[in-house]
Amino acid sequence: MDTAIDTGIDWAQVRADFPLLTRQVHGKPLVYFDSANTGQKPECVIDATNDFYRRHNANVSRAVHALGSEATDAYEGARSKLARFFNVRSDELILCSGTTFAINLVAYSWALPRLQPGDVILISRMEHHANIVPWQLVAQRTGATIKVAELLPDGALDLNALYAQMTADVKLLALTHVSNVLGTVNPVTYICKEARKRGIVTVIDGSQAAPHMPVDIAAIGCDFYAVTGHKMSGPTGTGVLWAKREHIQAMPPFLGGGEMIKEVRFEGTVFNEGPHKFEAGTPNIAGFVGLGAAVDYLSSLGMAHIEAREQALLAHLTDALHSIDGLHIYGRAPRKAAVVSFAIDGVHSHDLATLLDLEGIAVRSGQHCAHPLLQWLGVGTTCRASLAFYNTHAEIDAFVAALHKVRKLLV
Ligand code: PMP
Repeated sequence: MDTAIDTGIDWAQVRADFPLLTRQVHGKPLVYFDSANTGQKPECVIDATNDFYRRHNANVSRAVHALGSEATDAYEGARSKLARFFNVRSDELILCSGTTFAINLVAYSWALPRLQPGDVILISRMEHHANIVPWQLVAQRTGATIKVAELLPDGALDLNALYAQMTADVKLLALTHVSNVLGTVNPVTYICKEARKRGIVTVIDGSQAAPHMPVDIAAIGCDFYAVTGHKMSGPTGTGVLWAKREHIQAMPPFLGGGEMIKEVRFEGTVFNEGPHKFEAGTPNIAGFVGLGAAVDYLSSLGMAHIEAREQALLAHLTDALHSIDGLHIYGRAPRKAAVVSFAIDGVHSHDLATLLDLEGIAVRSGQHCAHPLLQWLGVGTTCRASLAFYNTHAEIDAFVAALHKVRKLLV
């Protein structure tokens, strides 16, 4: 089943690219179902990072020596690869530590100087804390208010209600592309079109979308798009903020220091232009070399193939979970990514995750950095099985068998 699906890709061969997946945990073969938390890394990413430190390590944009220019070329080369991957210009891509940093950058550099009392920031019920708390901090400091777009019972956004909420006082819409709890895929292209018509600036949290589907930022038509590198097979501490050029030009720097300046005098400083204006200090050079290798790897598989593969795994998992008595799945939107949050009647999700761990199975339990969503679901905590293309149908069967076993112990 794993070697012959319609993508024509040998997925067993692909899985073999991930050294960690051969591990045993508590004497059992590892089943890693926590990719929404962080993704595993293929050998080529590990090698690229390693090779940078072994053969090219130097700082970027500072030294004229050979290693300095090799490091700069490698770092800027990663920016170009990421730009191609997301179909945008590389001088509109700010390299940063992740989605949390990216959204905070927009909050501090775009929103803080602009918003005023009476302005509204629109977010949704399904946001990760990274797309809630920065806006609360901005609201506290500017006097703007936050309004929340609610969900339909299946976990899809209530689009009619959302459009009705896009009133003249809304200055900013901050929305996730894919929910990290429900898996819901939001129709961000349509939503951004509606927002544009009304002059609303859009920030899309692409943390859970970029690893799992083709993302053409230019086609989405947002103002800002944030991405997490470590969820898309890249190293931790890497991420990207794409911003429209007019915003890059108009926004003041977020952090001050080296690299982000053209000239510094005690009387005043001239800032760098383009994305470098927002990249103060030494960046995570080796991390971005690794992320460049990751997007090469993902492109070689094809994001549409990855999406098809994960949808097949999701269908199998969703179907198989029906066999577990008292199990409820949270999030059944018509378009969803391979994230399945669930709870079993009478069982605490931490107990469940702990016993699954003893079976070698890694799932996340808790509130998934989405407290307002969990409050709406009316469930204290859930377990979350989140899949990636390197998972297998056999792992899903092992997971469901383990669920039957541990449920009997806990109920
Ligand atoms: N948004 C969503 C939807 C996420 O799932 C996550 C990571 N759990 C984040 C933001 C935060 O991303 P990062 O780890 O890159 O800061």
